[in-house]
Amino acid sequence: MTGAKTYGPAAPLSTPGEGEGSAHRLHDPVGSNPVRGPWRLPARLRRPLLFLPPVLVLLLAVLAADWAEVQSGLRSDAAARERLTLYRETILRELEKHRYLPYIVARDPRAVGVLSDPAAAPSANRFLKDLAATTGADALYVMDADGLTVAASNFDTAGSFVGNNYSFRPYFQEAKEGGEGRFFAVGATTGEPGFFFARATPAGAPVQGVVVVKVDMERLENNWREAGETVMVTDVHGVVFLGTRDDWRYSSIAPLDDMVVAAIRSDRQYGNARLASLQQGALDQTRLVIGGTAWRQSRLRVGMLDWTIHYLTPMSEVRAPRGLVWAGAVTLILLYAIWLLVLRSRRLGRVTAGLRQDAATLRDLNRRLVDEIEERRRVERELRDTQADLARAGRLAAVGEMSAAVAHELNQPLAALGMFVSGARLYQQRGEAAAVTENLDEIDALRHRMATLTQELKRFARPGESRIETVDLRDCLKTSAKLVRPRIEESGVALQLHLPSQPMTANTAPLRVEQVLVNLLRNAIDACQGVAAPVVEARARIEEGRAVIEILDNGEGIPEPLRERIFEPFFTTKPATTGLGLGLAISARIVEDLGGALKTRTRLTSDGACFILSLPLAAERDGPVKGAAGPGGEEARAPSYLLDEAGAQ
Ligand code: ADP
Repeated sequence: MTGAKTYGPAAPLSTPGEGEGSAHRLHDPVGSNPVRGPWRLPARLRRPLLFLPPVLVLLLAVLAADWAEVQSGLRSDAAARERLTLYRETILRELEKHRYLPYIVARDPRAVGVLSDPAAAPSANRFLKDLAATTGADALYVMDADGLTVAASNFDTAGSFVGNNYSFRPYFQEAKEGGEGRFFAVGATTGEPGFFFARATPAGAPVQGVVVVKVDMERLENNWREAGETVMVTDVHGVVFLGTRDDWRYSSIAPLDDMVVAAIRSDRQYGNARLASLQQGALDQTRLVIGGTAWRQSRLRVGMLDWTIHYLTPMSEVRAPRGLVWAGAVTLILLYAIWLLVLRSRRLGRVTAGLRQDAATLRDLNRRLVDEIEERRRVERELRDTQADLARAGRLAAVGEMSAAVAHELNQPLAALGMFVSGARLYQQRGEAAAVTENLDEIDALRHRMATLTQELKRFARPGESRIETVDLRDCLKTSAKLVRPRIEESGVALQLHLPSQPMTANTAPLRVEQVLVNLLRNAIDACQGVAAPVVEARARIEEGRAVIEILDNGEGIPEPLRERIFEPFFTTKPATTGLGLGLAISARIVEDLGGALKTRTRLTSDGACFILSLPLAAERDGPVKGAAGPGGEEARAPSYLLDEAGAQ
């Protein structure tokens, strides 16, 4: 047998939310713990606020991009102005270099002598060729007064001017009129563009001829191209005649009037060029869109023949800083997003760590719970074993007790029997027949008592079966009263029945109930023997769906120390001839089988005992009764002989 043992966890298992002292406070991923800082923004405002920095950066980027473009435009304008000044100087220098050649040649007889003496043509040609080679002029030539070329520096080339008439050129007319002829045109013979300076010869009237120098401008273009810039020179009409883009040449900046086109054609200034317009859309002083590309343009008047130099910067270049600003803004936003992600992942990391810790705590709790359950099961097993041991021991003790009681009960009559038998033999030897008969009567009385004892014992061990019927318990009480009437009359006890007016219907075994009631009434009658005015009362009532029958007497009552023992088999305070001590034990057993209870209590208002029998009424108990004719007789019932120590009347 296992000794007394305390079980359960050494320390109480704490659960989340037990209070501040909780050893296993679980992690709170939602952040419901408000005490984190002095002040925190409400959660519904926090998310929109996250978008504030990127929005601000975008707004700033819009402003900064505009500002950067304006600055870039100003810078490119300043650079363009410098370049334009430089280009104008180059153009003017190149032209100035050759400008005075016709003036000088017009006064040199080696060249203009041919006008008066055609035979001097070869020497004039050679002179002009030498001079052109020395000065770098593209061509030097002399025309007569009708515009016919009589000598030229390129006399010996395939494109020789000699013999060609250029009187249609404006510079010829201008020179003849005594001024300086200036003209830019595509060469009528060579098809190569050039600038023409012309002077009449001789210096005074009448004019005999005109000396012309053609300056090649292609060298300038090549220099510009090498600088990698986009430059173009337009004439007074806006026609591009010089520049770094060959495909734009002889196109106009803006659409031309038909009359202007006709005039240009008649001068054969640009040969048969189409003179199409370059600009798409409305004309803008600072912006040009050519062939789908936007340019920022700066302009400068050359001061000769109303020329204008255009310096073009691609708008993409001007706008480049804008792109930089946007790239910077996007980088900032990306960095911000990365920062947020890092923060978030750190927070998630913290939450995950917290959850992991919670899981570990829960696992630990679970393990302890499982251990505890196992411990409890083990203890329960031990308890069951102990109970079984106790029950076995109790049963053995009961059997022993019972055997001792039965042996005691039977030994007395057996001893008496022996004495009466010996006496009878003696009387027989003496021939005292009357004494023998007397002894035999005693022997028969003892046999009768022993038979009664064994019969009662049998009844106690197996109360027998009885039919279950639907009966009115008031009738049972009346029948029981009738059965004890002879004893009542014999002893002079007053029996009072108090019955309720409504029926006390029960599905029960009436004979068994009557057996119990008769036993209780007999005990009560016995108890008030010797009392001055013996009264036995039977009170029946319905209480909480049960029938309650009280049997009261005004006898000496049951002394406190005996209360616990009166339901034990063979306990009796009556003389051996009248009491067997089985009545209450059998009654308690019967009542228990019928689903009822039998208790006793002292009467407070008067002397005497009170026995309380309670039985279920029909509505409460419709099923069969244990030990009665029907199944289900194994219902567990509380022992019916429990004492109601606190009982009151
Ligand atoms: P018996 O009547 O054969 O003695 P019981 O089991 O009926 O056996 O009663 C056991 C004992 O209980 C009695 O001997 C008596 O001492 C006590 N007893 C029973 N009923 C009363 C009662 N109404 N008043 C006093 N004592 C009682």
